[in-house]
Amino acid sequence: MAAYQLAQQALAGEFAARWAEALAAVEARDLADSLTVLEAEYAAAIRESAAASRVLSVAFYRLVRALATGRVIGGPGYRPGASLGSLWADFNRATGKRTGTGPREPLPVDTRNPFPAEDIARETDRVEETFRHQVADRVAKHERERKGSAALDDAELVAWEREFLESLKTGSAGAGGMLVQDGGRDVIHTALQDDPGALGYYRKTDSSPCHFCALMASRGAVYKSKRTAAFGAHPHCHCQAVPIFSRRYQLPAENGRFSRMWRDFGGGSLADWRTYYSKTTKT
Ligand SMILES: [Zn+2]
Repeated sequence: MAAYQLAQQALAGEFAARWAEALAAVEARDLADSLTVLEAEYAAAIRESAAASRVLSVAFYRLVRALATGRVIGGPGYRPGASLGSLWADFNRATGKRTGTGPREPLPVDTRNPFPAEDIARETDRVEETFRHQVADRVAKHERERKGSAALDDAELVAWEREFLESLKTGSAGAGGMLVQDGGRDVIHTALQDDPGALGYYRKTDSSPCHFCALMASRGAVYKSKRTAAFGAHPHCHCQAVPIFSRRYQLPAENGRFSRMWRDFGGGSLADWRTYYSKTTKT
């Protein structure tokens, strides 16, 4: 389901572009005095893109489930008379692409709503913590270092400021993009637990995942248990969980490629795997 993974990745990209614009509007020397404004901008950009990520995940979950089971599940966005045609239309709208269509016959309904409500307090806390960590604390440290930077000449100072801004942007965009996509990831993860029809999920990676994500993907399906382990996303990670509703599912080609790679690797520590993986994917 590449369209889903790409659309979630695009939402993180939209957030990053909006955030980069907000950062670019502030001079490096004014950062410390602009933290309140920047935090409001950061929070608003994450909130909007995370909401879109959730809508996309609900549409995706409902569509994948209906394709596998021939039944439509309730919850937000459900409309009476829903058909494969209307579920494809909802999914196409959420991705902004026309990926598929289906017949208009209404499907039988499972009225359960497995989708979690938005937890605004928890999300606000996560955004605040991330901003403090990625922006406020780093700006404070940078201000302290600037006081000791009198020895630098003008060109060095400009380069030093630019380097800091670049690293600030990369770090805060990656961490914020994770929060954006966690909006949708939480929807899928929670829905799986609360939906008796769901068997588990597999990991759909982006086109160049890190060694950790490639390893997770190489393992194929994760069948759900009472305590299905956390998904294990990280900043700059665009992996998504694709839910499974029957034993007849098809893993993406990359997952098979990572399994073969893991087999050829033959075992060892995670650090060894990392070295092997980066060598193998570079050639
Ligand atoms: Zn990943």
